[in-house]
Amino acid sequence: MNDDATQPIVRMQALNKHFGNLHVLKDIDLEIVPGEVVVVIGASGSGKSTLIRCINGLEEYQLGKLEVDGSQLLPFGKSNRALQRIRTEVGMVFQQFNLFPHLSVVDNITLAPMKVRGWSRADALETANRLLERVGITDQAHKYPAQLSGGQQQRVALARALAMEPRLMLFDEPTSALDPEMIGEVLDAMRELAKEGMTMVIVTHEMGFAREVADRVIFIHQGEITEQGEPESLFDNPQHERTQSFLSRVL
Ligand code: ADP
Ligand code: MG
Repeated sequence: MNDDATQPIVRMQALNKHFGNLHVLKDIDLEIVPGEVVVVIGASGSGKSTLIRCINGLEEYQLGKLEVDGSQLLPFGKSNRALQRIRTEVGMVFQQFNLFPHLSVVDNITLAPMKVRGWSRADALETANRLLERVGITDQAHKYPAQLSGGQQQRVALARALAMEPRLMLFDEPTSALDPEMIGEVLDAMRELAKEGMTMVIVTHEMGFAREVADRVIFIHQGEITEQGEPESLFDNPQHERTQSFLSRVL
C-alpha cells in the first residue's frame, strides 16, 4: 500500500487505448492526489467510461504508464498481481448498479469483504449494517435487489463498494439510470463521502453536483483531455471552444 498522503493515488502518463482501429484515449496525463474529487465530463462516446475503467484494470491499454495506489498496471493487461491488488483497493459504482440479483442486500455487501479480505461473517455483518444505516436503507437489508427502487439499489451498490474500505472510488454515471426523483438520494450519499475525504473520480452529467463537490473538472473530447480546472473556472469561463460548445448544450 502507498501510505504517503502526498503521493498521487493515480498516476497516468501518456496513456493510449485502442479498440481495434478506434483510438479511444490519446496521450492521457492524469494525476489524482488522495482526498481529491475529480469529475469527468464530455459528450457520449468521448472515452469517459474507458478512462475510468482503465484505472481499475477493467480495460487494458496499449501504450503509456499507469500506477494506481503504488502498483504498476502494465499495458496489455500484463499485471495480474497488481490487478488483483488494485481491484481490492479501488471501488466502483456503475450506471446499472450491477448488484448480484440472487443475493440479499446484506449478502451483496458482505460477500467481498469475507471472500477477498478474509473477514469473519460477524465483522462483515457489522460493517454492512453500519453502511446500510449510513446510506439510509437499514430496513431493506434482507430484501433482494429486484424488490428495491433504483435509488435504493444504487445506494446498496455504494455500500457494497465501501465495505471493502477502498482507497479510491470510481463512479460511472451513477445516476443516469435513475428516475429523476431518486437522483438526489444517491447524490446526497456521494456528497457525504466526498466530505469525509474519500478520493473519487466521477463521470456524471449532473453539472450542479459537479460544481458543488468537484475539486477539479476534466473535460474530455474524442479521447483527449481538452481542458481541466476548478469547477468555477471551467463552468463559468471555459477557455476552449469545444468546452464552450459542450457546456452550452448541457447547462
Ligand atoms: P463515454 O463513456 O464517454 O460515452 P466510452 O468510453 O464508453 O465513452 O467509449 C469511447 C469510444 O469507445 C466510443 O466510440 C465507443 O463506441 C468505443 N467503445 C467503448 N467500449 C468498446 C468496446 N468494448 N469495443 C469497441 N469499442 C468500444
Ligand atoms: Mg460512458
